[in-house]
Amino acid sequence: MKKVKETALFSVFVAEEDIEREKSKAREIRHSKWWHQKCAQGVCFYCGSRVGSSNLTMDHVVPLIRGGRSIKNNLVPACKECNNNKKYLLPMEWKDYLKRRKE
Ligand SMILES: [Zn+2]
Repeated sequence: MKKVKETALFSVFVAEEDIEREKSKAREIRHSKWWHQKCAQGVCFYCGSRVGSSNLTMDHVVPLIRGGRSIKNNLVPACKECNNNKKYLLPMEWKDYLKRRKE
């Protein structure tokens, strides 16, 4: 019984550590030339709005909490509106949201 409990605690601990590691990787990437070039156009990846590079935020396409990583093909510039909306929507709802924005 005791052993099962320890294993459960351990896996939670590892997940949190993974997220912290990916967050710090994202912070590094935010200072990279690659990221600055990606934001240079000032265009949101999701809705295509021109909001200016200073209004873009870094978004993880697959959120860290769902096992996403801070790697280049999982990081996109998003406007604040899309970033906020994405946080509260389920993947299915997010797909509908994108469809509406692009119509
Ligand atoms: Zn947007």
